[in-house]
Amino acid sequence: MKTFEELGVASEILKAIQEMGYENPMPVQEEVIPFLLGEMNDVIALAQTGTGKTAAYGIPVIQCIDIRKKQPQALILCPTRELCLQIAGDLQDYSKYVDDLKVLPVYGGSSIESQINSLKRGVHIIVATPGRLIDLIGRNTVRMDEVGNVILDEADEMLNMGFSDSIDEILAEVPTTRNMLLFSATMPAEIAKITKKYMKQPREIVIGNKNESNENVKHQFYTVQAKDKYLALKRIADYYPSIYGIIFCRTRKETQEIADHLIEDGYSADSLHGELSQAQRDSVMQKFRIKNIQLLVATDVAARGLDVDDLTHVIHYGLPDETESYNHRSGRTGRAGKTGTSIAIIHIKEKGKIRLIEKGIGKKFEERNIPNGKAICEKQLIAWVDKLEKVKVEEEQITEFLPSVFRKLEWLEKDDLLKRLVSLEFNRLMEYYRNAPEIKAPDLYSSEGRREAGREGRDGRDRAPRRTQPGFTRLFVNIGKVDGIYPNTLIEVINHNVRGRVGLGKIDLLQNFSFFEVESSQAEKVMSSMNKAEFLGRRVSVEIAQEKQGGDRERGGSYGRRSESQDDYSSVRKSNFAKRKEGDRNRVNRTNDRGSFGTRKPTDRKKRY
Ligand code: AMP
Repeated sequence: MKTFEELGVASEILKAIQEMGYENPMPVQEEVIPFLLGEMNDVIALAQTGTGKTAAYGIPVIQCIDIRKKQPQALILCPTRELCLQIAGDLQDYSKYVDDLKVLPVYGGSSIESQINSLKRGVHIIVATPGRLIDLIGRNTVRMDEVGNVILDEADEMLNMGFSDSIDEILAEVPTTRNMLLFSATMPAEIAKITKKYMKQPREIVIGNKNESNENVKHQFYTVQAKDKYLALKRIADYYPSIYGIIFCRTRKETQEIADHLIEDGYSADSLHGELSQAQRDSVMQKFRIKNIQLLVATDVAARGLDVDDLTHVIHYGLPDETESYNHRSGRTGRAGKTGTSIAIIHIKEKGKIRLIEKGIGKKFEERNIPNGKAICEKQLIAWVDKLEKVKVEEEQITEFLPSVFRKLEWLEKDDLLKRLVSLEFNRLMEYYRNAPEIKAPDLYSSEGRREAGREGRDGRDRAPRRTQPGFTRLFVNIGKVDGIYPNTLIEVINHNVRGRVGLGKIDLLQNFSFFEVESSQAEKVMSSMNKAEFLGRRVSVEIAQEKQGGDRERGGSYGRRSESQDDYSSVRKSNFAKRKEGDRNRVNRTNDRGSFGTRKPTDRKKRY
């Protein structure tokens, strides 16, 4: 292995990276640094986040800059604002002792004027998302004729996000005599097209086997019926009380739904996907980084911008189609010398996919049974006892209160005292799980397997289908508790927008949306009037709630995002686990930072209920 010095890294950069604790080059750095320090060298590197790729290109890029020329000499393109800021921050760290080097992050959603002003003052390295850079090029505010190094970071993700044309446009502006380096976690066909078009005899570097799995990651799968998938997820989360992980879903809609369910059920969770505004995504990521949230439900693309090293679990709520994507996801755990677990919750039909992934990653999955109530209670109990053992006792502060506590508990033996403590914490959990049915892997040939579409609620217990009162029609509306509404608010909204008296029946407020009954003769009128209305700047949408035959789930067409059924355990969790309460707090915060709804303070809510 060579040292950074032997790779030709300049002394001022060496000093900075040594301060950052970089003692020896990582494999990708050993390959890429000397190559990029040369001229007209193109590289395709198949390397994932966490391999040290930013320094691999960042160090030579900085070193090739001529500070006296106040023109952009290096261009780094990346898919998301988060990555853009992260890369720019890393470059600033590496160049701490390179006087006057200017690195400018250029991304959408922030003031273009201040970016233009910085460009006017002179910038050496631009780190950009393609959309905003195109905008700046269109305004003739950025010159590319001195660019000697172009880096496409997470190229596959930029293509996934539809930046192919923008990349074409940008590369047309850059001189042909430059180094070009393309980093990608996967190598789809479109990448091959780019490399063919823009690169000259690129050197290919693969860090680790293309799909090779990290040694520190265990792979497990649970087979469940579709209707049990969410319940299985909760049991897995319950079984690992200290879980800190990402739950990957396939679509934005599913991501939001699962996160909403988890929050509603009292878990410390939140969602991350492309439909959230930048400020919302920043806020969620920050909460996750500081472990204010234990479970982040995310799409693949949105999770790319997140750099967290100590995840205990990655859960695939939906398996991806490509082995490479699976590997990329699961590689987010088991980092920095720690072990991690990658868990797939699958349907029996997906077992073939598991076999394919096994072949691709060269590792076997362990098939596991969903933990039963007893196992979960045991795990939670031991985790609690563990905390009890390790709790820091603030001797000074607590001493003055102890005599009266001792006096009050004098009559109790140690055993009794412990039993009471445990009962206080666990009675409701144990009660909940006492009669909870086991979640078994489906047997396609059993009647149970075929009963999937039957009358079971999310928690597997039979529920009576909700009946609308005779003479009434049940309507769905896309505003819910998260918008800070109460039944009387909804009534006000209806009265304000619908002429004449409206005969209302039952109102059910849910987290993101609600249902209300109106006299059937008025349903059309109410829908057409309400559909013209706005609530807190958002278009109101009302439609007839569809009742699923024989089941308790109902959906309101395109907006019907979730089942109405509530899990009884939600109240258990909220009252039992202090930590879970943070989930509630998060939810309130989230409500507030989702802008349009944040008019009511959490305390107001309490007063009203
Ligand atoms: P990256 O793949 O660029 O996101 O880097 C992953 C992590 O490895 C980051 O936290 C870097 O700061 C760290 N890192 C990069 N190169 C080295 C090195 N040579 N020695 C130690 N840590 C490094």
